Amino acid sequence: MKIFRDAAKLQKWSGALRRKGARIALVPTMGCLHEGHISLIEAAKRRGADEIIVSIFVNPVQFGPNEDYAKYPREEKADLKKCRAAGATAVFLPTPEEMYMPGHSVYVDEESLSKGLCGGRRPGHFRGVCTVVAKLFNIAHPDFAVFGQKDFQQVQVVKRMVRDLNFDLDVVVAPIVREKSGLAKSSRNTYLSEKERKMALAISEGLKEFRSLAGLRRRLEKAGLKVDYVECVDSETLAARKRPGRGCTVLVAAYAGSTRLIDNRVF
Ligand code: AMP
Repeated sequence: MKIFRDAAKLQKWSGALRRKGARIALVPTMGCLHEGHISLIEAAKRRGADEIIVSIFVNPVQFGPNEDYAKYPREEKADLKKCRAAGATAVFLPTPEEMYMPGHSVYVDEESLSKGLCGGRRPGHFRGVCTVVAKLFNIAHPDFAVFGQKDFQQVQVVKRMVRDLNFDLDVVVAPIVREKSGLAKSSRNTYLSEKERKMALAISEGLKEFRSLAGLRRRLEKAGLKVDYVECVDSETLAARKRPGRGCTVLVAAYAGSTRLIDNRVF
């Protein structure tokens, strides 16, 4: 497994491979890898990738000023081991200085799908996501990139960016991987106390037994969570829908203590 810290070196390596006809997959992550991330590597293998590039980068540009950028878990050594075991052929581990040179002044802004949900609560978040993902696409030359349905809005925003900016690659979406309890796997779960972990179960259970938005919200509040949003949207346009049904997605963002958790269910 190759390890790159330098964007230009990876770009040269992957560019040469792609010209030779290799099928290249990219799996973008922020590290602290868990089975959810590993499932994306597995999905890349199943799709016949010759090279699987995992990027591990906690992207400062997608965090708000009062968010957890500084304390976001970083586990480089364990992550490399997991990537190797899962069958990644290259890992890209840039520093923030490598990705954002002094005077960096170009950003990618999606102006429609990123307005609501997490984008509404985290101003600038998807601008950061689109910018870093566009950079990773240009650096890694993937034939396809794999994203998790866990970040449902992110998938829709990235797909739109790929379409509107003519990126020559496919976006592959992998299902949400959960703990036995139902809790969606997340690097942020490492922040949770035992008590918060129990409270958090109301999210996956509430989605599983979903009847109405009001009922789901009540259930979350009763469990002691602070609801950021509970919404039902059209799965393609992300426009709000009153009544859930086929083609809809119900999304939740809620705080267990100071940890913000997200989950969703596609109908
Ligand atoms: P992150 O490191 O949290 O930025 O996530 C990197 C990628 O892994 C994103 O495409 C996420 O949607 C995906 N991912 C994170 N958690 C899960 C999960 N529990 N199941 C499936 N994919 C996930």
